[in-house]
Amino acid sequence: MAYRITPQLRDKINHFARFPQTGVSLKQMVMFGQNPSQGTLLRATQFLADELPIRIAHRIKELEELPHNLSEMPSIIRVKNWYAQSFEELVNFPKTELPSNIRERLSSGSIIQKLPDSVPHPANSPSHPGILKPAIPIGRRYYTKIDDVEWPPEVHYYNEKFTKLIQVIKARHNPVVTTVQHKTKTVIDTDIQAFLDRFYMSRIGIRMLIGQHVALNQPSSRSDYVGIICTKTNIAQAVQEAADNAKFICEEHYGLFRAPEVQLYCHNDLLFTYVPTHLSHMLFELLKNSLRAVVEKFGEVDEYPPIRVIVAEGKEDITIKISDEGGGIPRSSIPLVWTYMYSTAKPQKLDPEFNQTDFRAPMAGFGYGLPISRLYARYFGGDLRLISMEGYGTDVYLHLNRISNSDEPLQ
Ligand code: ADP
Ligand code: MG
Repeated sequence: MAYRITPQLRDKINHFARFPQTGVSLKQMVMFGQNPSQGTLLRATQFLADELPIRIAHRIKELEELPHNLSEMPSIIRVKNWYAQSFEELVNFPKTELPSNIRERLSSGSIIQKLPDSVPHPANSPSHPGILKPAIPIGRRYYTKIDDVEWPPEVHYYNEKFTKLIQVIKARHNPVVTTVQHKTKTVIDTDIQAFLDRFYMSRIGIRMLIGQHVALNQPSSRSDYVGIICTKTNIAQAVQEAADNAKFICEEHYGLFRAPEVQLYCHNDLLFTYVPTHLSHMLFELLKNSLRAVVEKFGEVDEYPPIRVIVAEGKEDITIKISDEGGGIPRSSIPLVWTYMYSTAKPQKLDPEFNQTDFRAPMAGFGYGLPISRLYARYFGGDLRLISMEGYGTDVYLHLNRISNSDEPLQ
């Protein structure tokens, strides 16, 4: 049965869409998420129970305001209804299930302890002792750590129930990119590009918040992880794994030995704080592009010129340069490579079993490897740039922000 937005739900969507979205930086997430108490998790539940419907309401509005009658297209309506359904589940999440004394403390805001100014702000407190000052004061909404007092079991059940709900929501939205992609394919338009940049960036943010919250609510045995953030992400290892995966896909596509070597120039012990799944995604997409360019330029030869991955460590950035000799890109096509539909590969058939989980694409052909990777880079304050020498090859620079306390990019 088709999902419908009732007038009451419509009012709520309009209401939530009036609030600004609240960004959370990588640094805040790390400070917040170390050994969280049930009370801290409850605070995060409260934050997300407000923040997710706000972000989702903004997306629903945007989908409805798309130009070129796109908002009327069945697949866009389908995506909008997923958002509306998730919105509804979130705003209906029963706050009344908590014991009344906890509810009172929540509604009065007294669950957040008043702190003297001398307490270090999370952004500059390396040891985060117990209680931290409110990180993001927006009205009564906070994303803050709170003291490890005794919490009744109801708080645990409540957190657990919310975690289950957002897991369901995250799974519902898995096929969003492939579904939206189909229908925008026919229209190349800067408005639509800008919309997709915003829309997919927001999706990365929502999925980050959900993924982090779900992970924090599960027992973890790894001391180098805070939720899905790894405080000791090993770059050399990440590049090596992405290269292995990309070469595997490349050989599957072009045939055995039809893949150049990937040479890595990087300190083996270079570690930094990042979300490994984001890093792997970007490296995998960039390496696939380079592998494909080289194989298609040289065809069936005994030896391909290698792809070189050079990692530089600065104070501000870690930069990963991927250099290939795959013939480059004509200068007139450079603006197109950042659009969500440009691909020089044959369009790929979607395999619903494998390709609908996230942004994951096959060897090439969807045309969003580069723009989505750039969003991932920018999400934590980095960037992605591409310099091509037509006739020779391409250099891609992936800048990753080491300080990672830049705010989430939200409009
Ligand atoms: P896809 O790989 O699915 O085509 P991408 O966004 O990853 O989508 O890349 C878009 C297009 O940019 C590619 O089809 C290709 O024409 C061009 N491109 C990207 N990277 C390279 C590269 N390293 N060398 C040559 N062309 C490239
Ligand atoms: Mg690609």
